[in-house]
Amino acid sequence: MKRKIKTTDLMNNWKTVGNYIATFLFGIVASLGVTTYMSCHMKTKQVTEHTEKTHWGYAAENGPNVWGQLNPEYGLCSVGIHQSPIDLVNPTPAELPPITFNYRPTPLNIHNTGHTIQVAYQDGSWIEVDGTKYHLLQFHFHAPSEHMVTGNPYEMEMHLVHKSADGTLAVIGAFIKSGSVNTAFDTFWHRMPSVSGESVQDNSVVLNASDLLPSTKYTYRYEGSLTTPPCSEGVKWFVLTTPVEMSHSQIAAFKAILYGNNRPVQPLNERELLVDTTEDP
Ligand SMILES: [Zn+2]
Repeated sequence: MKRKIKTTDLMNNWKTVGNYIATFLFGIVASLGVTTYMSCHMKTKQVTEHTEKTHWGYAAENGPNVWGQLNPEYGLCSVGIHQSPIDLVNPTPAELPPITFNYRPTPLNIHNTGHTIQVAYQDGSWIEVDGTKYHLLQFHFHAPSEHMVTGNPYEMEMHLVHKSADGTLAVIGAFIKSGSVNTAFDTFWHRMPSVSGESVQDNSVVLNASDLLPSTKYTYRYEGSLTTPPCSEGVKWFVLTTPVEMSHSQIAAFKAILYGNNRPVQPLNERELLVDTTEDP
């Protein structure tokens, strides 16, 4: 049977051709869009990675003296007047609210940030001071120590970083001095990643931050800042007066990976430096 081409068929054909053209054009536009998005996105990522690698450190060109000039967000590193660390000298003795420690075991999750060796803590561990709970997020190390005591640094300093529900940071600082082998650190000390950016996670290894602290828990207390950019203020500092000991080779193991990741001491200015006369429970 001979098929007669009808006007409607012609129209349908043209519609199909039109659809093809539309699909084709849409394809070009879409792929251009995706390409543009990807190239922008990748460029941003590259820039971020680039600045992450070079923006701040402890060398002359990117160290503590120039942190404030490296990025507008780091302004407080230059102009802040409540900065950390400080020299812990002539503290005022006072009866201070005790710190209640409630640290639970956590699986090993340790990261070399390039600036420090940091151990991430899983949820559920906290300290409580004056009715406020501060949850333990992570702890990390500096060598030599950042705080000084009457002008003298210790070989290392550990910082346990906590945050309250309203976002206030509280840091417990513990000095580390050369002495006996400290077996409490054995579980993870030999697992420290030596390369910047490297992480080690091992759920079969469990550690507890409370094992890393001295049994005597008197503290120096003052209001300070982060000791790294952006140097944010409003950080509650509790620096234990009693240092923990580590063997020379344990300290050397850390220094072989990172040494000189300490910000110099900052002026106390108008701040109060207290030391508690009542030991915490
Ligand atoms: Zn620190």
